Amino acid sequence: MAKVLIIEDEQILANNLADKLRAEGFTVITSPDGEDGLEKVRGEHPDLIVLDIMLPGLDGLSLCRIVRRDTSTAHIPIIMLTARGTEVDKIVGLESGADDYVVKPVALGEFLARVRAVMRRVPGRMVIQDKLVSDDLEVSLTGRRVFKGDAEVKLSNKEFDLLVELMRNRGVVLSRDLILTKVWGYDYFVDKRTVDVHIRWLREKIENDASSPQRIVTVRGVGYRFEG
Ligand code: CA
Repeated sequence: MAKVLIIEDEQILANNLADKLRAEGFTVITSPDGEDGLEKVRGEHPDLIVLDIMLPGLDGLSLCRIVRRDTSTAHIPIIMLTARGTEVDKIVGLESGADDYVVKPVALGEFLARVRAVMRRVPGRMVIQDKLVSDDLEVSLTGRRVFKGDAEVKLSNKEFDLLVELMRNRGVVLSRDLILTKVWGYDYFVDKRTVDVHIRWLREKIENDASSPQRIVTVRGVGYRFEG
């Protein structure tokens, strides 16, 4: 599985990002400053670097340029973490060599989407991610199969798509409208209650106790969120 190096001095953020990536099956290493980060870039050969700009010691933009100049590391994709405003201009305007950037505060769903998108653009370096995992729940994306512990869970196509959409955005509240658009498509004329009905069916299959769901949580008046 692909290895991600997170260079970020904000420990809590670094841990949050690491947890999310590990839950998606990535191997993650972290580094709290630029010098140590550069050492790990050279020693660990990560498949992706998530790089904060404001770091103690060697800053992110300088580190990015060093990585790009070194032929043994130049190919490694880099996603910058940046504070809103002037830092974004620096990344975009000065052509630091970053592949993408995510603005703080980091929305985890967006972050994962950027990571996947960047990894997809790297030819032949990574097996397209096939598994979504949450505790004993495992989803095989290419095989379209779901396992809870050792047992296979049989889902309808829409239940499967719904579960994948929720798991890919874990921790993020998805509105019924958004779910309808993503899972049923723009043109599909379905009632919003269809989402609720499918959520109920899904819960009966993947929750330990469907009457008090721990995985698919209802956010009253908004929508649903996948936890774990
Ligand atoms: Ca920082």
